[in-house]
Amino acid sequence: MSAQPVDSVCIIGTGLIGGSLALALKQAGFCREVIGAGRTETTLIQAVELGVIDRYDTQISRAAEQADIVVVCVPLGAMHAVFEQINAGEIEHTVITDAGSAKQSVIRDAGDVFGEGFPNFVAGHPIAGTERSGVTAAFAELYQQRRVILTPTEDTSTDALELVRSMWQSAGAEVDTMSAEHHDLILAGTSHLPHLLAFGLVDCLNNLEDVDEIFRFAAGGFRDFTRIASSDPVMWRDICLSNRDDVMAMMKRYRVEMEKMYRALEANDGEKLKEIFERAKKARDAFADRITPK
Ligand code: NAP
Repeated sequence: MSAQPVDSVCIIGTGLIGGSLALALKQAGFCREVIGAGRTETTLIQAVELGVIDRYDTQISRAAEQADIVVVCVPLGAMHAVFEQINAGEIEHTVITDAGSAKQSVIRDAGDVFGEGFPNFVAGHPIAGTERSGVTAAFAELYQQRRVILTPTEDTSTDALELVRSMWQSAGAEVDTMSAEHHDLILAGTSHLPHLLAFGLVDCLNNLEDVDEIFRFAAGGFRDFTRIASSDPVMWRDICLSNRDDVMAMMKRYRVEMEKMYRALEANDGEKLKEIFERAKKARDAFADRITPK
């Protein structure tokens, strides 16, 4: 399958992630055409007008039937319902993949709908994005030099995995594979917890008196730290719920860290604070070059 040229890719959900993939694939000449599908026709019309997709079909099953690869790029809470609309029985040679930010929940949804042992589903997650959403936020360079994590199961066929790998590589990404469990644990720490912290900090300050004054004098550090609190609330609700156990485990660890700093302040213990800050700075400086911005 991987040696065959790809004729058609169907992107379900032409927002930031799906739209950017469509643009990148078209630019790279990965396939002859990109078909968009989704629930809102005005979004799909806009995607055609912006040159993001070549054409669209509002009927998901019909769009999927015409494609070699179907990429589901909708919020995690909508995955199950969208999978149900893909008539997998009719498209046994089509490879289905997704871009959801948590992987165990998507694999459960796929197993539930396509049946255990289905070889043509490849769960995936591009570690790329911005705080903006919708088709107007899409851009072709989003995946350049970014990582994509694929989390195949023992049922995933090698051909399907290699086809999805080649798709992301042609969009400019570097592709890694790992277990869904490992993915969800890592991402809970590096992405899901930071989003919760940003949402929580802004909400906390927003509840204070003189909030306008506080935000008026906020400097670059505050802007950097809270940028991701402008992300889509529905998408982040779905991500936190889908990866609930790992996110809660990370929150507990973070709570312990906050408690340590609180106790150091309470005891006026500057040495303790400096010790924590120095350890964190050293760790951050060591990996800073390897961080890809979101
Ligand atoms: P987005 O810009 O809001 O796009 C979401 C797309 O899904 C839109 O086309 C939307 O269409 C469609 N959609 C929403 N709800 C739907 C439903 N119930 N049924 C069918 N279609 C629906 O979001 P995104 O940032 O591209 O995120 C898409 C996926 O990528 C999510 O699973 C997210 O976890 C994952 N992801 C996001 C990022 C990021 O930083 N943004 C990074 C990596 C992975 P209409 O609303 O117009 O109908």
